Amino acid sequence: MGAADIIKQHLIDPEICIRCNTCEDTCPIDAITHDDRNYVVKADVCNGCNACLSPCPTGAIDNWRTMLKGQAYTIEQQLTWDELPDEVPLPDAAIDAAAAAAQQVIEEASQGSKSAAVQEVETSRHTSPKAPWSAAHPYINLHGVREPVTATVAGNYRLTAEDASSDIHHIVLDFGNHFFPVLEGQAIGIVPPGTDASGKPHYIRMYSVASPRDGERPGYNNLALTVKRVDSDHDGNPVRGVASNFLCDLAKGDTVQVVGPFGSTFLMPNHREASVMMICTGTGSAPMRAMTERMRRNMDHFSGRRLLFFGARNRRELPYFGPLLKLPKDFLDIHFAFSRDADVPRRYVQDAIREAPAQVTALLTDPHGHVYICGLKGMEEGVLAAFADICAAAGQSWQEIETRLRAEGRLHIETY
Ligand code: NAP
Repeated sequence: MGAADIIKQHLIDPEICIRCNTCEDTCPIDAITHDDRNYVVKADVCNGCNACLSPCPTGAIDNWRTMLKGQAYTIEQQLTWDELPDEVPLPDAAIDAAAAAAQQVIEEASQGSKSAAVQEVETSRHTSPKAPWSAAHPYINLHGVREPVTATVAGNYRLTAEDASSDIHHIVLDFGNHFFPVLEGQAIGIVPPGTDASGKPHYIRMYSVASPRDGERPGYNNLALTVKRVDSDHDGNPVRGVASNFLCDLAKGDTVQVVGPFGSTFLMPNHREASVMMICTGTGSAPMRAMTERMRRNMDHFSGRRLLFFGARNRRELPYFGPLLKLPKDFLDIHFAFSRDADVPRRYVQDAIREAPAQVTALLTDPHGHVYICGLKGMEEGVLAAFADICAAAGQSWQEIETRLRAEGRLHIETY
């Protein structure tokens, strides 16, 4: 038996995982898959690059078992789990082989010839996202699925026009005397009541916090969510979203089971010179509202620029449309993009970005510039392509700028 027979098998804890798909989206080699029950890692594909670790909002991703290669848990086994199996001790012969392999790595490293495994970890490390240096320290995982906190609905009203096709709600949850601190950019999990078709409790659904850290109402222990009622799938077939319908139908005084908070990187900068570019579609506006409101309440502190690109089908579908227009232009430079508005040509956020090259280049090249992208998965590619073209036209390399932004925790993308 040799060292090659022993692996550190990467596993996801089904008790903590909130099925947000972040790991599957992040994995550069498609080693993560899922069914409607669990997210799992393919032992024969995962190379331990760790790219998925830091984006995971709960830490469910960071579980490892030392295994004999031939006995690694299969995908089929993992998909049936409700909890992780205990660590099983390796046979003595395998432990001896692992010790010999570890010694070899140490010796090779000291001779300047690093093993392939050591090199692999180093090349992947720089891809990890991190928070802006001046971000406040977030609390995460204060309440897990086993001990959710009860919040009370303080208000629930429809944000979109009555004749709009999307029913988007602004829902305020009050935490009473419970300690549940959140920062702009963080998310919370909602536990929908009841069970699914197989009799299991519903999975948690994640929503971004749409209010600033000091509360939807300043000084109150409450927060706001932006929730779109899901009544059809991507192909237009009717489906009833379990959590969104539960939330949109809540009345004042009802209670909700909440877990979290989650998220430690998509956080706003807090230093005076910081400038932000916010790009969002639809309900991806939730964190942008939180950050904008934090800055609006503290205008004397934030002296940088704020640039917002906001996409929706038309202005009646746009959450927070009215209040946004009341903000002075020198506080928030807003660029709307409407895709289905009879009065204006069809545009996406990336089109609006291309039409503002001077503002965009200035922010991308500003050492205090921070970029936030949130909303539909499809827009990510279009926005990054627009950045590349704008930078090229200005004689700049987007590749270099992107590397710098990511390394300095200044480029944050949350798309679904
Ligand atoms: P939506 O109304 O379906 O779409 C918003 C706009 O984006 C529309 O104008 C749409 O245009 C446009 N769009 C579609 N494809 C695009 C592309 N490839 N590039 C650029 N724009 C594109 O949006 P939504 O239903 O509100 O979805 C928002 C997303 O944000 C969801 O994926 C949601 O999961 C996510 N999100 C929600 C929260 C939350 O707290 N609720 C937080 C973070 C993220 P057309 O449809 O006319 O093509």
